[in-house]
Amino acid sequence: MMRLPRFRYVGPKTVEEACRILAAEGPDAQVVAGGTDLFPNMKRRQQTPKVVVGLRRIGALRGRSVNGAAVLGANLTLTELVQDKLLRRFYPALQKAAFSVSTPHLRNMGTLGGNVCLDTRCNYYDQSFEWRRSIDFCMKKSGKICWVAPGSPRCWAVSSSDSAPALLALGAEVTLASRDGERTIPIDDLFHDDGIRYLTKRQDEILTAVRLPAHEGWRSTYLKCRRRGAFDFPILSVAAALRFEKGVVLEARVVLGSVGSRPLVADASGLVGHALTDDLIEEVSEKCAKIARPLDNTDLNLTWRKRVAKEFVAAALREARGDGPQRVPTGLLPQVVDTIA
Ligand SMILES: Cc1cc2nc3c(=O)[nH]c(=O)nc-3n(C[C@H](O)[C@H](O)[C@H](O)COP(=O)(O)OP(=O)(O)OC[C@H]3O[C@@H](n4cnc5c(N)ncnc54)[C@H](O)[C@@H]3O)c2cc1C
Ligand code: SF4
Repeated sequence: MMRLPRFRYVGPKTVEEACRILAAEGPDAQVVAGGTDLFPNMKRRQQTPKVVVGLRRIGALRGRSVNGAAVLGANLTLTELVQDKLLRRFYPALQKAAFSVSTPHLRNMGTLGGNVCLDTRCNYYDQSFEWRRSIDFCMKKSGKICWVAPGSPRCWAVSSSDSAPALLALGAEVTLASRDGERTIPIDDLFHDDGIRYLTKRQDEILTAVRLPAHEGWRSTYLKCRRRGAFDFPILSVAAALRFEKGVVLEARVVLGSVGSRPLVADASGLVGHALTDDLIEEVSEKCAKIARPLDNTDLNLTWRKRVAKEFVAAALREARGDGPQRVPTGLLPQVVDTIA
């Protein structure tokens, strides 16, 4: 049985108090919300904070307003997002993404803030301490080499958050608080293309809220590829958000998840100014899927993941067009994958 290492737990009641503690403790301190990512990581000694700052008692992080635009507190649980009827109606990409995370138990604990700030994943990293020690660790924690790309100066661990691509497609902003005050930035600027420093936020900053722009005229969706439909981390995902007027696309955002160290924004500009025909979907999906660069460090065959990216983009665009739920090859077993390849 894996046990947690020793640490000191503090439970501030306000954002200001939490920021003060983070600033005073420095890099030894880390916040925890639901703990469904941080505590398993601590058990595997991937993350080893000496001070854990619990956010659960901070009522201000649980605010929610969905009225034209939306403001969502970082401590809302994924279950609360899934059950919110207005979110479901106006921001279906986020609701679908939240619903696809893990299991009901983990969604009851896991929060929006924790999902956005989720650690990146890799087959050589998400292992027990003993397993990682047996290969002399890797550069994401305690080692010097990348076992996925041994000549690489950087870590290629994968951004595996379900909500992050959906929020990017929806044009979200995030508010970060520290002892210096608050700042609000586009969520696109929060992510960094590096498996180790995957967030641009400082260690002493807390994500307090996610802000979504007005939904009028927009349609959105989120599709996820994983081995097991019941629950699994994404190994490829696509979020699409389109603004229509009289059947013509006025704005388009397509974001690919789990095929890089951050969610990747595709070039969907070819959709703008046109009706969404099958031919156009085919053409733009091919272009959007080109940015997918999966490596051999998550589940299933990487060539297959690269190949089906186009199918997922096309399915997401058809769904956003209003075609209803799409059949895409999710959860394929390896032998089926081989047949396709
Ligand atoms: C079996 C299993 C399956 C899973 N499947 C999925 C999946 O399919 N998709 C998926 O996306 N996730 C999955 N997860 C990961 C996790 O459950 C979710 O991402 C969850 O939403 C994390 O939220 P949390 O509140 O528990 O995060 P925590 O564990 O509390 O925190 C996660 C990280 O975010 C930081 N953090 C938390 N809140 C804040 C904040 N407000 N400001 C700044 N930093 C913050 C923490 O310091 C930590 O680094 C899975 C986990 C398990 C154990
Ligand atoms: S991509 Fe390389 S450095 Fe990063 S976690 Fe995997 S093996 Fe480690």
